[in-house]
Amino acid sequence: MAFEDTFKKLVSHCKEYGYVFPSSEIYDGLSAVYDYGQYGAELKYNIRKYWWDSMVLLNRNIVGIDAAIFMHPTVWKASGHVDAFNDPLIDNRDSKKRYRADVLIEEHMEKIEEKISREIQKAQVKFGEAFDEAKFRSTNNRVLELQAKLDEIHLRYSRAMKGNDLEELRRIIIDNDIVCPISGTRNWTDVRQFNLMFSTEMGSTADGANRIYLRPETAQGIFVNFLNVQKSGRMKIPFGIAQVGKAFRNEIVARQFLFRMREFEQMEMQFFVTPGSELEWYNYWKEKRMKWHLALGFGPENYRFHDHEKLAHYANAACDIEFKFPIGFKEVEGIHSRTDFDLKSHQQFSGKKIQYFDPETNKSFIPYVIETSIGLDRMFLQVISAAYCEEELTKEDGSKDMRVVLRLPSALAPVKLAVLPLIRKDGLPEIAEKIADDLKFDFNCQYDDKDSIGRRYRRQDAIGTPYCITVDHQTLNDQTVTIRYRDSMLQERVPVSGLRDIISEKVSLKTLLKEL
Ligand code: ATP
Repeated sequence: MAFEDTFKKLVSHCKEYGYVFPSSEIYDGLSAVYDYGQYGAELKYNIRKYWWDSMVLLNRNIVGIDAAIFMHPTVWKASGHVDAFNDPLIDNRDSKKRYRADVLIEEHMEKIEEKISREIQKAQVKFGEAFDEAKFRSTNNRVLELQAKLDEIHLRYSRAMKGNDLEELRRIIIDNDIVCPISGTRNWTDVRQFNLMFSTEMGSTADGANRIYLRPETAQGIFVNFLNVQKSGRMKIPFGIAQVGKAFRNEIVARQFLFRMREFEQMEMQFFVTPGSELEWYNYWKEKRMKWHLALGFGPENYRFHDHEKLAHYANAACDIEFKFPIGFKEVEGIHSRTDFDLKSHQQFSGKKIQYFDPETNKSFIPYVIETSIGLDRMFLQVISAAYCEEELTKEDGSKDMRVVLRLPSALAPVKLAVLPLIRKDGLPEIAEKIADDLKFDFNCQYDDKDSIGRRYRRQDAIGTPYCITVDHQTLNDQTVTIRYRDSMLQERVPVSGLRDIISEKVSLKTLLKEL
């Protein structure tokens, strides 16, 4: 199935099954803003908890805070966002569509890379076992030609981005015949910078009002509270501050569902270290964060690191963790070594000393920072796109059937178990309701007695419920029920009295956290 088709199916599945709705849908929606439905909110909560616990519970030297969205306007001058939180935008005069110039160029480079991969795949099929990829890359004329083109664009692009050369970005687009996907023309405007921060006014009268911003990242709430947390928590370096919260960016090209939103949530952790030790910690956090992703069991082949070539002016190392979405490998999380840029800048702008006193050396210094920054919504999209699965089934009579199943990790699934009476009589509903009532204190439990048992199983598969408990006539005699496993569809008979322990073991976040 084409990538785009899988993505479209995912979007409609999320809507049909109460995961994600377009914001204000009855008014035709608001671009790149989404609401989470009854199951989406639970899944999001579970992902957030998995992240929070992995930071705050598992690390004695990491604490969590919850800073406000509104901050003093000078924060964004100090952080560089007022002057430099820009994207280069370009308009197509025929379609009147607006694009990010950097994204147009990057997508063009990706297309060339895909062409190279296709040539290699074809040759692999042709030469079989004897195929030598390195030799093929260095001798095949077509591949050499494409690679040379790619290298040339790459060089021009990184120079233009580093030098903030907007005219050169436009020239790269023109020279490479990059066309607007809508109009198909090369009728481009100049490239302009566009600040991504949303602003509003605080205060009751226009005169006295202060222009303030909706925070475009949560990190600054941590930096401005560095001293508060360090002093009140008597924290010793190295230590970290974690936070989950909303961030807002007026993205130029907001598309691809939850991937690029204008209102989204970030889970960020700033780890403060002694200057000089930052690259060691950078590598430590790279490994730790990758482990966190891999523990979800979606397969190591779907993840990779992507080192940044163009480092932000304050960073001395940075990489992304990318996941293979239906739309290709894309960033889910960034890990950045931010030096002392932020604290130093806040020290300058605020005029307050923001330093750490090391009792062992009797010296004060501004700590360096390693940051791990992951989008909660993007992670949600990652989880749900990895979990979405269409399966062909063969029924007992040999005919074919289809089921859609969300293979969510049990610890993240919104509903952990559904209790289903086989039929709606003979006292079975009463027993099933009692079981659900008993277990509701431990797990998110559903009771369902509508439609045939097969249809009820399918409904639970579609929302990703890992376990279905079925109460049947045998239950009346021996107090046992069947437990049906979502992924294998196998069923097992177990005593009602053992359900809590069996399910706890399987759905506990603890099991996941222990792998880290
Ligand atoms: P991108 O290159 O995709 O614009 P970024 O490098 O600007 O992202 P960061 O500022 O490093 O992203 O933000 C950290 C994380 O926040 C990203 O890895 C991503 O998961 C998430 N994120 C950033 N922007 C958005 C957005 N508009 N919608 C949803 N998640 C986002």
